[in-house]
Amino acid sequence: MTDSHSRVAIVTGAGRGIGAAIARRLAGDGFAIGLLDLDEAAVKQGAEAIVAGGGKAIGVGVDVSSTEQAEAAVARVAGELGPPTVLVNNAGITRDNLLFKMSDQDWDAVLGVHLRGSFVMTRAAQKHMTEQGWGRIVNLSSVSALGNRGQVNYSTAKAGLQGFTKTLAIELGKFGVTANAIAPGFIATDMTAATAERIGLSFEDFQAAAAKEIPVRRVGQPDDIAHVVSFLVSEGAGFVSGQVIYVAGGPKD
Ligand code: NAP
Repeated sequence: MTDSHSRVAIVTGAGRGIGAAIARRLAGDGFAIGLLDLDEAAVKQGAEAIVAGGGKAIGVGVDVSSTEQAEAAVARVAGELGPPTVLVNNAGITRDNLLFKMSDQDWDAVLGVHLRGSFVMTRAAQKHMTEQGWGRIVNLSSVSALGNRGQVNYSTAKAGLQGFTKTLAIELGKFGVTANAIAPGFIATDMTAATAERIGLSFEDFQAAAAKEIPVRRVGQPDDIAHVVSFLVSEGAGFVSGQVIYVAGGPKD
């Protein structure tokens, strides 16, 4: 651990939902933030709000599943804010269907964003971390990694991210870089709102039904995840690596 490493964080999928909450939280913790998302207008707005609050941030439009775009985005953050030492691989999509109805495109799209996206982003960012001798990588997995009907693509990607995380921890630990995964349960965002719509429920009814199955009897909010990210990227969390933290209001009943 050094006292002098740069405090620059990249958060992917920061245009809304969990990623936007993580970006706000890490800005509050004193990090300069590179907000990355497909939706460039949304991350520019998010960055402006952080700057208006006295922080440092830029918004960059990027498809993380493109090697070229991911590398250019990391280089831009490094050039404008300084070397990134924190990377939160949060960008994600769902393309749910039962196995027998799932198309090749829906399989490739989901693995492309979650797995390939996290891989190319991490490969591009790690060199800044190893050069600084300090880094924190947090990958967004999911309780779906344990298996979930209609999500054979998504659960495979989220389980893959857990193996990815453990291998990063093994390879990068000697450079002062930790890697951990957060596996959220039900978090109220556009992603879960879209699931409610797909199965024909109002978002309120969907959340109420989900809350009954969760030990703490409520669904999660994006800030519940941002809080755990804040801990994992802190100085004091340097001995926590290769872990998967389930943030789901308790185990399945
Ligand atoms: P969300 O509201 O759908 O936000 C996801 C963000 O990622 C969107 O802003 C989206 O951009 C962006 N994105 C998608 N593909 C991208 C790409 N190729 N390159 C760059 N950005 C891309 O989802 P969320 O609920 O906040 O989820 C965030 C993460 O948590 C995901 O990895 C998700 O799988 C995981 N997670 C969520 C839950 C939950 O209950 N919500 C539970 C477990 C895990 P656009 O707006 O342009 O599409």
